[in-house]
Amino acid sequence: MNYACYSCGAGSDLRPYGPHGAMTCFKCAMATPERRAEAERNFVQQLDACGASAVVDGTVTGPYPLEHAAPHVRAAIDRTAQASKESAMSPPGAAAQGGKTP
Ligand SMILES: [Zn+2]
Repeated sequence: MNYACYSCGAGSDLRPYGPHGAMTCFKCAMATPERRAEAERNFVQQLDACGASAVVDGTVTGPYPLEHAAPHVRAAIDRTAQASKESAMSPPGAAAQGGKTP
């Protein structure tokens, strides 16, 4: 499906953060303080509607619930979470400190 910015008609870099979720391009979304506030408000509203875990994948989709993510996206998220957990268990510098002799 082809989308266009509700304001200027541009067809790229669109997100559903315009009035009532209409597609808007970044330039139009940031054009005035009022539009920027509306875009931010709509983003947060969509993010909140996703529940405990949301995915923001950089596409025209906007935030969506983790359980609706494609398998390859979920696998990437799981790998990132695992790597984060492992680095939390051994913070940088821990090995160097442990290796020192008093
Ligand atoms: Zn636009």
